[in-house]
Amino acid sequence: SKKAVLGPLVGAVDQGTSSTRFLVFNSKTAELLSHHQVEIKQEFPREGWVEQDPKEILHSVYECIEKTCEKLGQLNIDISNIKAIGVSNQRETTVVWDKITGEPLYNAVVWLDLRTQSTVESLSKRIPGNNNFVKSKTGLPLSTYFSAVKLRWLLDNVRKVQKAVEEKRALFGTIDSWLIWSLTGGVNGGVHCTDVTNASRTMLFNIHSLEWDKQLCEFFGIPMEILPNVRSSSEIYGLMKAGALEGVPISGCLGDQSAALVGQMCFQIGQAKNTYGTGCFLLCNTGHKCVFSDHGLLTTVAYKLGRDKPVYYALEGSVAIAGAVIRWLRDNLGIIKTSEEIEKLAKEVGTSYGCYFVPAFSGLYAPYWEPSARGIICGLTQFTNKCHIAFAALEAVCFQTREILDAMNRDCGIPLSHLQVDGGMTSNKILMQLQADILYIPVVKPSMPETTALGAAMAAGAAEGVGVWSLEPEDLSAVTMERFEPQINAEESEIRYSTWKKAVMKSMGWVT
Ligand code: ADP
Repeated sequence: SKKAVLGPLVGAVDQGTSSTRFLVFNSKTAELLSHHQVEIKQEFPREGWVEQDPKEILHSVYECIEKTCEKLGQLNIDISNIKAIGVSNQRETTVVWDKITGEPLYNAVVWLDLRTQSTVESLSKRIPGNNNFVKSKTGLPLSTYFSAVKLRWLLDNVRKVQKAVEEKRALFGTIDSWLIWSLTGGVNGGVHCTDVTNASRTMLFNIHSLEWDKQLCEFFGIPMEILPNVRSSSEIYGLMKAGALEGVPISGCLGDQSAALVGQMCFQIGQAKNTYGTGCFLLCNTGHKCVFSDHGLLTTVAYKLGRDKPVYYALEGSVAIAGAVIRWLRDNLGIIKTSEEIEKLAKEVGTSYGCYFVPAFSGLYAPYWEPSARGIICGLTQFTNKCHIAFAALEAVCFQTREILDAMNRDCGIPLSHLQVDGGMTSNKILMQLQADILYIPVVKPSMPETTALGAAMAAGAAEGVGVWSLEPEDLSAVTMERFEPQINAEESEIRYSTWKKAVMKSMGWVT
């Protein structure tokens, strides 16, 4: 059989909240050649708690790599063409492990987890100086969302973690650190590092100096020796120590939302993308400048593509629950068997018939930052059926995006002319059309939706010492786009949106 002629290949691990994927791209064309995906379990041991098993996550990465390599073999593609691997990951999710045994000391505390609500309340009472202490250094509001408070909780509540810290055996990391340490050898010389984008979500990282911040670590009571080394998003961190790709350098690392920004080629100031996964995250590139929001957006590190390359920042609107509401309708209510079925239900009715669904399962993030909010479904009548609820769930994702886009437009001054989108939910055409209708601007989606993985692959392939990927925009000229134009009038869209806002007000203040 004939061997395909190819340029160098680059692999990407995309470790998300819902699933893990490994994907292999041709560095010359950005074409996706093969991939494998495994869904990840989420545990909800108590109300508001969300955990995952770090070892399950690691095994899923190995499984995806092995299966993808097998599939490449079936395509007659030689896996020795894979020259680098990038990692992109769910952000903020917190792991502490023992560097002597390699064992996690507790489950991963997932970004959505709310157990730290009381920790946040007590910390907010003793913020030193002015209330801006945390935000001015990190770009983030003090919230359950970020790693520092999750780590504080582990140090306060888990004896194994306390003991390992006392015995100088503990290592902390977000999922990128846990994976890179494990993949580069673990107890046998694993590299303990993270990149600037992931570090910027811990609440311990100074986004101006790009270093761990001593005062913040003191404030949160975090021993600095357990923190990983902070590196750029594109450089060789270490080599794969086992499996089919043993010896291949890991040379790219970006939090998933940063990776999507890179994968969508949003390299210019003012370029933005919205990713619809478990949550929904709109990031706008603000260049070398940290822009602080007056409307509930976060300031975060967008990327730094090389040790000697400049840092880029982004304004971010974060929505906690987007695809997760579809998973909830599947797993908790059982009104659908697969996520895809939601589209069929919604299509049957084409309207929510006055039903509004505010999925504030983990409080509300941007622009409200209201931990006391809880989910509500309102506007029900005798007529309402599961199709209307399905439609309302999709509409909720669009309304939440509208709220952050409005905030973004106010902070940036120049309104976005269209919205670039990606993520697992964007395969849903009803959702995409609804989004265009509710924003009243076109929604534009690349035909290759795996932009998160693509961004990680680009960073890995462009790294010094690898050099198989050029980051010039013309590389992606072959990428085709799908456009969704607004179809309802702006007035109709405003009426729906203002009713949504009424529903949001009702969702707040459920827990005190
Ligand atoms: P993550 O990166 O957070 O793991 P993904 O980008 O993989 O998320 O998207 C998965 C999410 O998208 C899941 O929550 C799933 O319920 C939702 N989803 C997948 N397909 C559809 C669909 N056709 N319609 C609506 N939601 C979907």
